[in-house]
Amino acid sequence: MSVLNDIKLKAKELLEKGDVDVVIGYAKGTLNGKCTPYFVRNANDVENLVWENGCDINLANYLLKISDKAAVIAKGCDTRSIVNLVKENQLDRERVVIIGASCPSTESCQKCNHPDPVIADVFLQGETKVNNDDFSDLESFSKLPSEERRNYIYKEVSKCIRCYACRNVCPACYCKECFVEENLPAWIGKTTNTSDNMIFHLTRAIHVAGRCVGCGECVRACPMGVDLSILNRKIMKDVKELFNVESGLDLDTKLPLNDYKEDDPQYFLIGGEKCE
Ligand code: SF4
Ligand code: SF4
Ligand code: SF4
Repeated sequence: MSVLNDIKLKAKELLEKGDVDVVIGYAKGTLNGKCTPYFVRNANDVENLVWENGCDINLANYLLKISDKAAVIAKGCDTRSIVNLVKENQLDRERVVIIGASCPSTESCQKCNHPDPVIADVFLQGETKVNNDDFSDLESFSKLPSEERRNYIYKEVSKCIRCYACRNVCPACYCKECFVEENLPAWIGKTTNTSDNMIFHLTRAIHVAGRCVGCGECVRACPMGVDLSILNRKIMKDVKELFNVESGLDLDTKLPLNDYKEDDPQYFLIGGEKCE
């Protein structure tokens, strides 16, 4: 039997038994090859669920928008975001049934090393294609003079119209009031001045440091084609090398920037070569 059939059966069972009020999964999208988040509240509607290439949206974000008892059909990145949300006390683990399945959408995420769920209440196996992301794509970028690296980022953020779609879709960006909306103090101007855009994007990158799971949702959501994945990936690489932590892999490891150890590396304070 296919993974999709298993997903439908499990979703139907949970709804019919009243174990959950809603199952969050995917349905066919309006654009060819794209799937859209789909909330199933009626057991008959499980027939509209799909599980295929194009199911790439990170569904963890939607768990924060509802208070019902929910089940979510989750691949690797969704479960990693859920792990972080539980650790950050944003999500009650008891409120969520995780129907885990291997990611069907690895064409969207060529650099994902974790297509399988890291936690699940029910694990439905799928076709797993594990990549070997060693961050080698960052090598040539890291060797560029700092001015050229800055220019690359500057060029990307100059396209930004500050619609905040990238922030709104990010499961790590759940602040009730984002710093960009604060008035006292006003951290940045409201126009799309490139310097202000730079402050938004660099601050957001720091805020999600050690918490970003590399789902790529911020890039896919951008209407202007702004791609700062190189920045997020550089920080992911640094966090892994400095703290030996990959974001969201288990419920026990503390988030590296929420934790203090006497022997923590201090490069970021003293401006050592790893901060180049
Ligand atoms: S989604 Fe794109 S245009 Fe909108 S704020 Fe983010 S980077 Fe800027
Ligand atoms: S950019 Fe920072 S302040 Fe804004 S929502 Fe994200 S984490 Fe919160
Ligand atoms: S910053 Fe982008 S890649 Fe990282 S968790 Fe948020 S949406 Fe996903």
